[in-house]
Amino acid sequence: MAGLYIHIPFCRTRCIYCDFHSGTDMSVQDQYIDALCTELDMRIAELQGAPIYTLYIGGGTPSQLSAASLQRLFTHLSKYIDWQQCHEVTIECNPDDLSEQYIATLRTLPINRISMGIQSFDDNDLRFLCRRHSAQGAIDAIARCQSAGYDNISIDLIYGLPGQSLDAWRQNIDTALSLGIQHISAYALIYEEGTALMRLKEQGKVTECDEELSLAMYRELIERLERSGYRQYEISNFALPSREAAHNSSYWNDTPYLGLGAAAHSYDGATRRYNPADTRAYIHAIEQHKCCYEEEQLSETDRYNDMLLTRLRTRQGIDERTLSDKFAPRYIDYMQQMAAPHIACGNMERTDGYLRITRQGLFISDSIISDLFVVE
Ligand code: SF4
Repeated sequence: MAGLYIHIPFCRTRCIYCDFHSGTDMSVQDQYIDALCTELDMRIAELQGAPIYTLYIGGGTPSQLSAASLQRLFTHLSKYIDWQQCHEVTIECNPDDLSEQYIATLRTLPINRISMGIQSFDDNDLRFLCRRHSAQGAIDAIARCQSAGYDNISIDLIYGLPGQSLDAWRQNIDTALSLGIQHISAYALIYEEGTALMRLKEQGKVTECDEELSLAMYRELIERLERSGYRQYEISNFALPSREAAHNSSYWNDTPYLGLGAAAHSYDGATRRYNPADTRAYIHAIEQHKCCYEEEQLSETDRYNDMLLTRLRTRQGIDERTLSDKFAPRYIDYMQQMAAPHIACGNMERTDGYLRITRQGLFISDSIISDLFVVE
């Protein structure tokens, strides 16, 4: 079983907080699709015949691809993917792109899950973030997807915006809950290096949300979503029963995946490969039939730290038997020793052979995970 990720590095406009690789020059879209098809031909063997179980088309803004580009991409993917076996096919979309006509195109393809970057249902927030949709536009886009038959829709929300009150965040959550969607991902706003948002902060034009308030927003998120039947299966992800994101879960479960396109990463259990975060350089290399990734061989410590970082973010936690099978005893001893004080104060628990962060510990999960890291 394997996953396939395809990165689409095009956005119509740039949001102020974003540090993902994407640009607004659409002129190379056709060449880029050609390059993706060629790279797939060149690298599919890396999956060693494992059937592709999940496909995730992310970005950037994949819904900036024309209908013709999408159709061409899927025709090529069909050479390698048995759609009957491919359990989940997700595309990230901007609400503004989801016209009835565009959704009708998506419905002709094997896409069965829509992930919409909504971020807020408050127009002031959306303008601040430089999102190009409005709150009502997002609500209407969800309704159009549902009318067209999509019953697996995920939305992204951001909390902890400058000046956002707890009440405003509650209203955001309540609006999301009123829409009948299956999956919600919610993240605290991060000030990434090199973003316009970071520059505003450095110039003193915005003030970061107070940490206590951010934690209160997170607590509110968990409580409201759980009361409405969404299970928190990962620190930032909530789903109705059986609607957990299979593709993202495979990242957390150590499943191999192939990443195609500029800035895409791949993982095969022993190595990570990183394509360049440069769309033109990527196209140029692939046109010469050259793979352009950088490769990192993962040491046992890298793999141990990666496993902690991903598995401890899940509510299921880390399976200590799997850990014992995969790592030398010194890693297990170290983990148990470092976890002990967190277990004693209720921030972690060990049940049924799993070590996990408790609800109480979720609010300091980053520091718990880093305590368990092995540093060499
Ligand atoms: S649309 Fe998404 S990928 Fe594009 S700039 Fe905004 S957040 Fe980043």
